[in-house]
Amino acid sequence: MRAIFLFFGKIKKEILKFCRILFIGSGILNNELINEIRKSVNIVDVISSYMPLTKKGKNYFGVCPFHDDHSPSMSVAEDKQIYKCFSCGESGNVFTFIEKYENVSFLEAVKKCADLSGIEFSYGKSDRKNHNQDLYDIYKFASKLYQNNLHSKEGKEARDYLKKRKLDDNIIKEFEIGLSLNNASILTDALKKKYDEKTLIKSGLVSEGEYNLYDIYRNRIMFPLYDLSGNIVGYNGRIYNSNNKNDSKYINSKETPIFKKGELLFNYHRAKKEAREYKFVIVVEGQIDAIRLYQAGYRNVVASLGTAITKEHAMLLRKLSNNIILCFDGDSAGEKATNAAIKELANLAIEPKIVRLEESLDPDEYILKYGDKFKDKIDNALNIMQYKESIIKKNIDLSKTEDLALYANEMIKEINAINDDVLKEISINKLASETNLDVKFIKSKLDKKKEIKIPIKKNIIKYSKYEKSEQALIYYMLKSIDVIKIYEKKITFMPTDRYRKLALKIDCFYKEFGYIDVADFMSYINSDDISINALSEILNLDLNDSYDEEAILDYLNNIKSYNDKTLSNKYKKELKEEVSLEKKIELANKAIEYKIRSESNE
Ligand code: ATP
Ligand code: MN
Repeated sequence: MRAIFLFFGKIKKEILKFCRILFIGSGILNNELINEIRKSVNIVDVISSYMPLTKKGKNYFGVCPFHDDHSPSMSVAEDKQIYKCFSCGESGNVFTFIEKYENVSFLEAVKKCADLSGIEFSYGKSDRKNHNQDLYDIYKFASKLYQNNLHSKEGKEARDYLKKRKLDDNIIKEFEIGLSLNNASILTDALKKKYDEKTLIKSGLVSEGEYNLYDIYRNRIMFPLYDLSGNIVGYNGRIYNSNNKNDSKYINSKETPIFKKGELLFNYHRAKKEAREYKFVIVVEGQIDAIRLYQAGYRNVVASLGTAITKEHAMLLRKLSNNIILCFDGDSAGEKATNAAIKELANLAIEPKIVRLEESLDPDEYILKYGDKFKDKIDNALNIMQYKESIIKKNIDLSKTEDLALYANEMIKEINAINDDVLKEISINKLASETNLDVKFIKSKLDKKKEIKIPIKKNIIKYSKYEKSEQALIYYMLKSIDVIKIYEKKITFMPTDRYRKLALKIDCFYKEFGYIDVADFMSYINSDDISINALSEILNLDLNDSYDEEAILDYLNNIKSYNDKTLSNKYKKELKEEVSLEKKIELANKAIEYKIRSESNE
């Protein structure tokens, strides 16, 4: 008896603990208001404002922005007000979507929805102290120091340099450009008063010498690099005078927990709004190029900072706009980078437009030299086919038969890769007239069009009978308070930790609010990863929406039976280790009792 008592005692304690945590949590968050805000917007409208959705049956579908997807794996259910991705398993409500998509906190996402509906909502940002806060603070401090330096007496030469490069004062201010002085440890010494050595070295601004710590950046113009939300997380320092002429032109601060070069784009946080407004984004290589475009009025610009476009970059660009213009340096390195970026974007089924600049100029030099002509370049950006064509044509002579054949073959390969039907048709017709080949012939050379279908989720994990019962029970608990009540009444518990936790939270939600709704429940568990993942797992099973009471009782019996079997086995094990005959008999009886119970429920 004691064992059972302990067993259930533990569960009871767990329930109390959860309800308490949730109670405290809801006190801060004001769940009622959050639910009201959630209900005031329609998830379909909100997600549609970020990405195109197509209605199929009762749900909407789109390309999932949370993994490198290129077929419509994300479904948005208007009736349930949730989304889920069949491919990567992501799921959530309107807040989770904004949180992930915009890379903001849960409360910021709530605020955005509140603003959409004109509901008053404010929250204190301070309760979300990041564990990398020290690093952010160090960068904030460094930024002030560097900016002061630039405007000090010692900054004259650097200011002259920036003037020579035609960067306006207001731009220098907006981009928070600064200067590191030619002094070994000015920043380090200031920071040392507040931070320990380890933190300073971790920041990427301080290095460890034989005897002391010193500044990594000296005598460089300092361009801050920002994360997606606009916090300074790194620096790019450029030489500007003859004092360190032999050093490399730029030094990038090293990667830290808050700075990963391949995962951020220069000017992303500023370009977000503009890219959406103008419905396109321009990608350049260098930060000076980005700043030049910005100053010239192209604020929808981001820079890759000289690294090749990564998968993460491509996913970020996709978030900014469906229309991406690559405008890399005009030299051959820029052409190579363009080709690599096209490939990376193609993995996400994105076809960018391309601008190539003459005379090997980079965008900064081009705008300074040709001014408004840059606008024509952007307005007449090449589509992929025109770009490929220009590259293929570069080294061949179309009046020669072999070259013409080579050209046709290369172009057919490129046409094959086009996703856009209209562009494909136009390109086929154009090639036909250019080469005198028959349209039908060209089409016969193309692969059969691969139809994009909604992928059918792969259910790789094999669940046992009792796990399936737990999943179904939770699914229907989220649909009806009747099922929650049945679950409460039957004295049983879920054997799987994550499902038990989830069921407890559903119960707590119902006790607190008196109703159940899956989208609101998602807000309720937003900071509990285990529950969120367990819920995603269950939602992705795509269970039937209708149920009957008999089925619910069946699920409960399966779970009970499993629990009884577990208990029976536990007694059997104890029996083996027990020495007292009296206790042995007691344990054997219990083992049998639970075995019989478990079988009667099967
Ligand atoms: P500038 O006009 O000041 O010479 P740029 O943008 O034209 O700069 P590029 O040589 O084209 O410079 O390099 C493109 C980008 O690559 C730079 O903006 C910088 O972010 C990055 N970069 C260049 N050289 C380095 C380097 N040695 N270390 C780290 N990053 C670099
Ligand atoms: Mn340049």
